Amino acid sequence: MPEFRAVGFIGLGAMGVPMVRHLADKLPAEVPIYVFDIVQSVVDELSTQYKGKIFGANNARDVAAKSDVVFTMVPEGSHVRSVYLDDENSICSTDVSNKILIDCSTIDTATSLQVKDHIATRFPSASFYDAPVSGGVLGAEKGTIAFFLGCAEDDPNLPKISELLRMMGKEIIPCGAPSHGLAAKLSNNYLSGIIAIACSEAFDMGMRAGLDPRVLAKVYAAGTAQNTICDRFNPVPGIAPEAPSTKGYKGGFKVQLMRKDFGLAVDMARRVNAKLVLGDAGLQTYENASKDPRCRDLDSRVVFRYLGGDEDWAKKFQ
Ligand code: NAD
Repeated sequence: MPEFRAVGFIGLGAMGVPMVRHLADKLPAEVPIYVFDIVQSVVDELSTQYKGKIFGANNARDVAAKSDVVFTMVPEGSHVRSVYLDDENSICSTDVSNKILIDCSTIDTATSLQVKDHIATRFPSASFYDAPVSGGVLGAEKGTIAFFLGCAEDDPNLPKISELLRMMGKEIIPCGAPSHGLAAKLSNNYLSGIIAIACSEAFDMGMRAGLDPRVLAKVYAAGTAQNTICDRFNPVPGIAPEAPSTKGYKGGFKVQLMRKDFGLAVDMARRVNAKLVLGDAGLQTYENASKDPRCRDLDSRVVFRYLGGDEDWAKKFQ
């Protein structure tokens, strides 16, 4: 890969670590990776494990100075602002002319555009992209995540960026323009979150009316209600064998992350004057479930439990 002499990665959490590992395993031997996280132990761990390939940097500025392309994968807009714009240790405190900066965090579109504008003004030859991902920690580990890129299909950097993204994920969808990757991701998670609540409510009412949830699942799959949440991520334990609900709601998309993304989607809808009938109710549901000790830290489809759904239904239908 002649275009990139060194790659940077900032934010080594649940998603960042497996993504960096894929880069380390797949980049040509002569391309080093410079990494930074405010948690020093994870930097040390990676640079020890990948000695001679992954190098710890002192701060975001250091990563940006040493790399021609930099990925960021931090929790929220405030962290993205801090990594790119804050004080003397941020990415923009070094000269990033001609560099490519790719933010994979799921944040609000306004912050992303603010960072992009700042970079465009100070370093016109640099390129900044929003590139949020879908597929969760499992997808990051398997290298099957999807990237929603905030750029046009004919963006001149797309071929070389795609080469790197394909090392970490399966699908790359250019969404049209700056911040459109985030807008696509947030509207997707809004839809998925609403379906999970509706699915939980529908099962709960059907089961309370005396139906076996396995029968309900067949009915929904055969009818107009058919959807992936019902088929593969069913909120009722024991219906979809691979669903987190069947494994005690473990190993999925945490309810707090759904609350965060759902809130960002509702904010975005407000900003663009989209009328939401279900937004406030959905947000309140995920807000409450996030605080409920029976649900916190578990897969977001735990809304079925939050609603008081019967998880021990199998006893009734032996
Ligand atoms: P995480 O909290 O596990 O990791 C974030 C990392 O960023 C942490 O290691 C933290 O120390 C580091 N960090 C925070 N501020 C920093 C700073 N100023 N400089 C350097 N490092 C800093 O979060 P995650 O689960 O890896 O998620 C990251 C992003 O990806 C979030 O926006 C999240 O919504 C999104 N996402 C997560 C999932 C998922 O299933 N976990 C799926 C898709 C998208």
